Amino acid sequence: MLAAMREVLRAGREPNGLSAEARVEASLAKLDAPSLRPVINATGVVLHTNLGRAPLTGVEFIGGYSNLEYDLDSGRRGKRDVHAGALLDRLLERPAIVVNNNAAAVYLALNELAAGGEVIISRGELIEIGDGFRIPDIMERSGAILREVGTTNRTNLEDYRAAINANTRLILRVHPSNFHINGFTGKPALKDLAALAAQHGIPLYEDLGSGCLVDLRLYGITEPLVSESLAAGAGLVTFSCDKLLGGPQAGILAGDAGLVERIRRNPMFRALRVDKLILQALEATLRAILFERYDQIPALRMLSLSAEAIRERAERFRAMLGQVKTELLPGDSVAGGGSTPDQSLPTWLIAVDGNAVQLERSLRHGCPPVIARIVDDRLVLDLRTVLPEQEHALAAALQGLPEFQALS
Ligand SMILES: *Cc1c(COP(=O)(O)O)cnc(C)c1O
Repeated sequence: MLAAMREVLRAGREPNGLSAEARVEASLAKLDAPSLRPVINATGVVLHTNLGRAPLTGVEFIGGYSNLEYDLDSGRRGKRDVHAGALLDRLLERPAIVVNNNAAAVYLALNELAAGGEVIISRGELIEIGDGFRIPDIMERSGAILREVGTTNRTNLEDYRAAINANTRLILRVHPSNFHINGFTGKPALKDLAALAAQHGIPLYEDLGSGCLVDLRLYGITEPLVSESLAAGAGLVTFSCDKLLGGPQAGILAGDAGLVERIRRNPMFRALRVDKLILQALEATLRAILFERYDQIPALRMLSLSAEAIRERAERFRAMLGQVKTELLPGDSVAGGGSTPDQSLPTWLIAVDGNAVQLERSLRHGCPPVIARIVDDRLVLDLRTVLPEQEHALAAALQGLPEFQALS
């Protein structure tokens, strides 16, 4: 700190007036404060990848000792698989295993089932999820050989059939999560692809991405259900747990017992296993789904809110704002997390008066930070993604903005 202050003086610049002690204290306080901290998500993006995807509230974590790998009945070593496994078995009626995330699940499936052989995939499904996760790259690392068929917009059953040879290990379908092609497009139905795979004794594997276990069509979200994919004949499916499933970061592989068992025995499974805290959150989420207690899953609760319910809540919220000038506008929320990229959910937005860029920055630098959107040069807040228990903090953050301090 002294060296930095000397540097300022030497360069002939004006020191900022803080004493050396104050600077050291400020710097230590910053180091001593958590870097990962709660924020208020007022963006209306429910599964916001940058804000931790599905929010998890109401899960009480056991940090101490647990029966993670201990069978309480026999008093012997157990398996961590059993905790989520029993619930998945009921929900999917197939054996299932859990790994670190869906990226890990895709890698493991390809490595175990196809290393050294060919994997047939439609050209239109050679996607990038984000953060560098690309299907062709993961395929190469897994040791499998990519055999792309069809075209970007259209692939038919004959394209798949023509590519099958003695070295084919898998037929892969990947859900194009984060984009949508319109127009002259086509692909075979999953059940036809399954029939073709069965005819040749090759497993059909579908990477579903978002892993929708609960039918959300009623709320305007049309994503393939895991159960539909399995019923159509996919021998293996993989999906994320922190997208539409609404749980913690993890990935699930489910399907035919023989395939799942092979993947479970792959040595890399041990390197990609999930931690006890994750298993607790996953178990709580899966149990809430099994017993249809959807209101216990924050992401599902948020996705199911009607525009009318959000408008009423926004009206009540605005009454708490005192000096702060706002207006209510119709708008859109989105599911996020790479699901339904071309669909949105109707909502009501609270537009805050003032310079949007300055307001956005002030809110983001607040405590807790508030993350908001700018639409048509106005700062807007979408209460869909604001947890009810955060409403008072959000109102206080708005009232504390320098713009509105001057008024009072
Ligand atoms: C999101 C996604 C992945 C990666 O899942 P993570 O859980 O984020 O690792 C893989 N495939 C598809 C199709 C996806 O949508």
